[in-house]
Amino acid sequence: MAIERGIRNNGTAGAPRTVADARPQVLPATEGWQQKLDEEGRPLLQFASPKRGKPPVHWADLDLEGRVAAVRERGLPAFRAKQLSTHYFTHYTADPAAMTDLPAAGRDELVAELLPPLLTEVRRLTTDNGDTIKFLWKLHDGALVESVLMRYPGRITLCVSSQAGCGMNCPFCATGQAGLTRNMSAAEIVDQVVAANRVLAEGGLGGRKKGDETPDRVGNIVFMGMGEPLANYARLMSAVRTMVAPQPDGLGMSARNITVSTVGLVPAIRKLADEKVPVTFALSLHAPDDTLRNELIPVNSRWKVDEALDAAREYFDKTGRRVSIEYALIKDMNDHAWRADLLAQKLLERGRGWVHVNPIPLNPTPGSIWTASDRDVQNEFVRRLNDAGIPTTLRDTRGKEIDGACGQLAAADA
Ligand code: SF4
Repeated sequence: MAIERGIRNNGTAGAPRTVADARPQVLPATEGWQQKLDEEGRPLLQFASPKRGKPPVHWADLDLEGRVAAVRERGLPAFRAKQLSTHYFTHYTADPAAMTDLPAAGRDELVAELLPPLLTEVRRLTTDNGDTIKFLWKLHDGALVESVLMRYPGRITLCVSSQAGCGMNCPFCATGQAGLTRNMSAAEIVDQVVAANRVLAEGGLGGRKKGDETPDRVGNIVFMGMGEPLANYARLMSAVRTMVAPQPDGLGMSARNITVSTVGLVPAIRKLADEKVPVTFALSLHAPDDTLRNELIPVNSRWKVDEALDAAREYFDKTGRRVSIEYALIKDMNDHAWRADLLAQKLLERGRGWVHVNPIPLNPTPGSIWTASDRDVQNEFVRRLNDAGIPTTLRDTRGKEIDGACGQLAAADA
């Protein structure tokens, strides 16, 4: 059913240019759920967070002055702020019993007020070889979010959520189905990293290869979990600033090891380029032509492919950071050779050396229109881009076996 519903004639999403491209054109369609529509019948986009009870203000929501003010308000000297930060950002603890350098009298209350619990672990799924863990967290109001911790040779990466749910309504995405529940606070974003570091410190992530001396600490962050990070801009930036602040005032991470991924909120991309925090920027493009992308990524109805690519190029110009183009290869939907050529052309029109492309192979899903491209089609897509001078590498899709890959974070509490 779904497949028939998804297939339309060639030509509706751009004419194939070679005989080799004369494959069906499968068009995006939801399977098993219906996209909410706006008054004009287009997929509803939610940019504003619904009003819900705000999470408690936490240490990681405050800047340095705010932290000093918070301890002073409680009649404590300023250096107590440093001590609390050391416990949280360096030892990854919010347990008053471990904070023996703080006066015992009133310590429990102090910690309860300034470091209130934000994430409650609901479920933890680990891959067979132990190198990937998906966490399901409950927030203070019952909203569910996920993060995925992954060990690679020489680095440990955490995929974090930035919103509970998502308002971007992409038809392939489990997260988007229920719409946007609410924005996460900066501290809720940061606390995912602190929680992962705590698990790492306890030896909770397996899969270390012989000879790998990487410290057990999150070194890389990708904002590819639940939510569109640029739709929660202020809190995203506050979280990123805390991640890159040197310990003990922050997590001491390198901005270049933090990847912010977006479906293309152009004004926010421009703002990000001006932040002087040179994070790695990834644009989830998935189609080089507006005809297809309008349906695949509904926000394309606001900002077209060319506008998103112009903003991405501007990001490179302002930060010197090479941009990543994410491109999930979906069988007969966006994997045609002419699309590889069009993508190469559009990237080259904006210069050389500023971008690389990461095609992401999907898992084979029998009976679904959202299924893997054939291997030779994947290879051809990559080859065409590389031959055109665009560095292109198929990305690892770690986490698929536990549904932890991007766009699959449904957070259904089983
Ligand atoms: S793919 Fe990303 S932007 Fe689209 S609905 Fe899912 S989480 Fe949101």
